[in-house]
Amino acid sequence: MLLASSLVGLDPPGASGWCSSCGRPHSLPRTAQAEMEALSLLRRIEQSGRFDFTAAEPDPRFGLTQEQRRTGKMLGVLLCSDGTVLRAFSGMLGGTWHCPGWAPPVAGLTLEDAEPAAAFGEIVRLVARADAAAEPERGRLRRAHRERSAALSQALGASYVLRNARGEEAGVPELLRAQGVRPPGGVGDCAAPKLLTEAHRRRLVPEAIAEVWCGPPAKTRTHGSFHAACRERCEPIMGFLLCGVPAACGADG
Ligand SMILES: [Zn+2]
Ligand SMILES: [Zn+2]
Repeated sequence: MLLASSLVGLDPPGASGWCSSCGRPHSLPRTAQAEMEALSLLRRIEQSGRFDFTAAEPDPRFGLTQEQRRTGKMLGVLLCSDGTVLRAFSGMLGGTWHCPGWAPPVAGLTLEDAEPAAAFGEIVRLVARADAAAEPERGRLRRAHRERSAALSQALGASYVLRNARGEEAGVPELLRAQGVRPPGGVGDCAAPKLLTEAHRRRLVPEAIAEVWCGPPAKTRTHGSFHAACRERCEPIMGFLLCGVPAACGADG
């Protein structure tokens, strides 16, 4: 029954976008099985009371805290052809990008890495020194602060590298520039791009995806409601990320 509905294309799209190299859209379905996996993920989190339920020792940062219950989180699962189910959360969790059992960030560099963290610390110190200084020293420190900040955000942005099933890599800033779109910040931080980039890194073949809301009601979201990958941040990069994925490209993909 489930198989029949996917064969005739009745499943809603889980993630889709226009592929500029194929000149057509690619779309990965949200199958009933993917929805079941997503709901069972919510149950595991509820039952264990933590997001790092695969780790032997709980890390207090990943507990299902009151704060977490209040704000909520978009979670995603990606079903792959070999039976692997990847998990990802949108953005950060417990103040970090890295949680055991979950896909890592798309960004190769974050403020959790030594070099960017040191650069950030230096920027903070420059602000404090500029505030305490008199002209012309103050102006000099402010310029230095602006230059360092720009260099750091450039380095962090350039570390967002997507991978697709064809083994191609694309930097998020270049991909967005080539499409002439200017979405809000945070492109690549949603669950869907993390899942697809991780699958391709591990040479897994994605077959279905489901994003599910974990938390209190907010706009169109309720606990356990399913959502397609977002239009604003994800759609502009999904064409690239899904290119070469048989389940997303059709028979001639
Ligand atoms: Zn998104
Ligand atoms: Zn394509």
